[in-house]
Amino acid sequence: MTVQSLRLPIVLVLATALSTSTAAAQQAPIAERYHATADRIIDAALADSGAYRRLAELTDRFGPRLSGSESLERAIDWIIEQMQQDSLEQVRGEPVMVPHWVRGEEAASMIEPRPRSMPMLGLGGSVATPPDGITAEVMVVGSWEDLLRRADEARGKIVLFNVPWVDYGTTVQYRSRGAVAAAHAGAVAALLRSVTPQSLQTPHTGATDYAPDTPQIPFAAVTVEDAEMMQRMVDRGQRVVVRLTMSARTLPDAPSRNVVAELRGSERPDEVVVLGGHIDSWDVGQGAMDDGGGSVAAWEAVKLLRRLGLRPRRTVRVVLWTNEENGGRGGNGYLQAHAAEADRHVLAMESDAGVFQPLGFGFGGSDSAYAIVSQVGTLLDRIGAGRITRPGGGADIGPLMRDGVPGMGLDVDGARYFWYHHTDADTMDKLDPAEMARCVAAMAVMAYVVADLPEPLPRQ
Ligand SMILES: [Zn+2]
Repeated sequence: MTVQSLRLPIVLVLATALSTSTAAAQQAPIAERYHATADRIIDAALADSGAYRRLAELTDRFGPRLSGSESLERAIDWIIEQMQQDSLEQVRGEPVMVPHWVRGEEAASMIEPRPRSMPMLGLGGSVATPPDGITAEVMVVGSWEDLLRRADEARGKIVLFNVPWVDYGTTVQYRSRGAVAAAHAGAVAALLRSVTPQSLQTPHTGATDYAPDTPQIPFAAVTVEDAEMMQRMVDRGQRVVVRLTMSARTLPDAPSRNVVAELRGSERPDEVVVLGGHIDSWDVGQGAMDDGGGSVAAWEAVKLLRRLGLRPRRTVRVVLWTNEENGGRGGNGYLQAHAAEADRHVLAMESDAGVFQPLGFGFGGSDSAYAIVSQVGTLLDRIGAGRITRPGGGADIGPLMRDGVPGMGLDVDGARYFWYHHTDADTMDKLDPAEMARCVAAMAVMAYVVADLPEPLPRQ
């Protein structure tokens, strides 16, 4: 045999073997290909309580971070500095103008049938009362229908929406639209039974809306305990009179920023996987679970990939959105600023349900993308976080998702979140370092694998 006659078959055999092994690698189940890397990420995340410590430092130093407040902007300055120290790339604050509502002094007192100072929180965006407050008889209603049926009783009164908790989405509509409905019926102010399944005399704030064609009346949350007591008093035929005093103001929009940092992709840096939370909070408690926790978990996930020397094909970008709570300007501003590259966003991921035990992700996107992220999910089964369900998404990634970007929200054990949500009790002590570390692991594995897959997630 000549050398010539030998060469061709060998080259062919080699070429065939190479292409077969490449194809095998491409087609090997995702779980198999990324198993070792995912385990490395998870092991490193679980060995570290840095995320919890960093969240504690953030929330202890700056406290709650309402849009327009100095504490929010100082927290953002600090985060940018820390991210630079972490050697993340392209660290920056992207400017966004945000609403600036200020609570001011406020109080609610029962005058009749007996004096009682009631724990309360004005709802975000509410107008003030006159300086001496509004003193009026309370009319208790249990639903929109109840208010409509008895609308002629509402004139000149304070309407109390005593609507029991069903779930957040169902019950929160009374917080959003209660002031408009009560004003429409002629009420002079409105009170809301706090939107929560569990209460230790803790009022819950949150955003409320006005409508252009209806007078703006003051609207505040009282506790479940006081709402039920007022209900019982009225049911017994007693007249309940409350004085509500609020000095809330809406100031001109204020400058804020979305915080952005990256781990640049090794092969396709212009394709992006975004993950994040919102850095603003209400002006009570510490905003530890809503949403300092989600923000820090996403940040730590990217920091962890960097520390492990894992650089996926595509860019992984952490975004801490501003103004989720009372405006959504951060999520909208991000899409505006990145419109030119929106079609190169492969996935947007958000954590905004508290950093409790992660269960998996809720996903919004095409069937074929769902099949892929479900395979990635199996890599998280060992920490109980592998369940991928549909639909899914989040407030801050909503604008990206409406633009066609596949999205997912971190699902966690939600049993306790709404006990603390938007209250003075949203503080660090309610969170567990091990659970938070598992949230970091879940976000890091999902972001890494999706950013590293040979092909981007298929869109609709
Ligand atoms: Zn939130």
